[in-house]
Amino acid sequence: MNTLVDSHCHLDDYTDLPEVLARAKAASVGRLLAVGIGDGPETMHRALEFAHTHPQVFATAGIHPQEAHQATPEHLAKLEKLVSDPRCIAVGEIGLDYYHLDNPDVPTQQAAFIAQLKIAAAACKPITIHCRTSELATPAAKQKYEQHGNPNAAWDDLLVLLDEHWVPTGLPGIMHCFSGNEEQAARSLAIGFYLSFAGNLTYPKSTTIQAVAKSAPADRILVETDAPFLTPIPLRGKRNEPAHVALTAKFLADLRGTTLENIADQTTANFHALFPTTA
Ligand SMILES: [Zn+2]
Repeated sequence: MNTLVDSHCHLDDYTDLPEVLARAKAASVGRLLAVGIGDGPETMHRALEFAHTHPQVFATAGIHPQEAHQATPEHLAKLEKLVSDPRCIAVGEIGLDYYHLDNPDVPTQQAAFIAQLKIAAAACKPITIHCRTSELATPAAKQKYEQHGNPNAAWDDLLVLLDEHWVPTGLPGIMHCFSGNEEQAARSLAIGFYLSFAGNLTYPKSTTIQAVAKSAPADRILVETDAPFLTPIPLRGKRNEPAHVALTAKFLADLRGTTLENIADQTTANFHALFPTTA
C-alpha cells in the first residue's frame, strides 16, 4: 500500500494516542497534520507538542472561528510564537462558522480571521480554512448570520476576505473538509487553494461534494479524517481516527475511476508540494 497523508486531524483528546498512531502507521498513513486549535487558544500549543514527539506528525496552530472572541492580543502573540516553529507548518483551522447560534457575531469572527491571516502571511505559511454556512442552521442562527437571506453568506464573506487579505501574498491554502458547491470549489481553486475531502464525502446525502471531488484537478486534492469527527462509511457512528483516511481515499478513488494507490500517490505528492518540509 502506498503512503497516505491525513491532512487534518485533532489528536488532543485520544487517551490511547500511541495505539491510534500505531494503527495509522499500519494503515500506511505516513504523515499526519495535527490541528492546533486546542479547546481554545489556551491549549492551541498541544498539536505542536505532538509534532515534536512524533516524527510523522506536523502541526498547525490557530484560533477556531467558534473561539474568535478569544483572539486577544495576548493569544495572537502566542499564535505568532507557535507559528515561528518549523514543525508548525500552517495557520488554522481559521475561517468563518455561521452555523451555531452561540458562535461569536460576524464582525468578531471576521476580525479574528483577518488578524490570523496577517500572522500567517508574515510567517509565509499556508492556512487551513474552516467554512461552515448557515444553510442547515436553525431559523435563529439564519437570522443572526445571513445577510439578505443568503445561506451562502459564510462562503461569500470568506472569499471576499481572502481576496483582500490573502491572495496578494501569493501563498496557498487548504479548504479543510470541503463541503461547498461547484461554484465555491471553482473560486477556491482559482485563488490557489487545495480541496481536502473528509469522511462526509462518503455519506449518501453528499452528492454535491461528491460531484466536486470527482471533477477537481488531480493536483489540488487532499484527503483527511477531521478525526475524531466525521467517521467515513462503513464505520460511521464510531469514533474516527487517522487510520480511517484510507476509507475516504478509497471512496475518492472509486468516484474518480482510479485506484487507491493512485489517489494515495497523488494526494501525498500534493501535500508535499504544499508543505515541502514534510517530504
Ligand atoms: Zn478540524
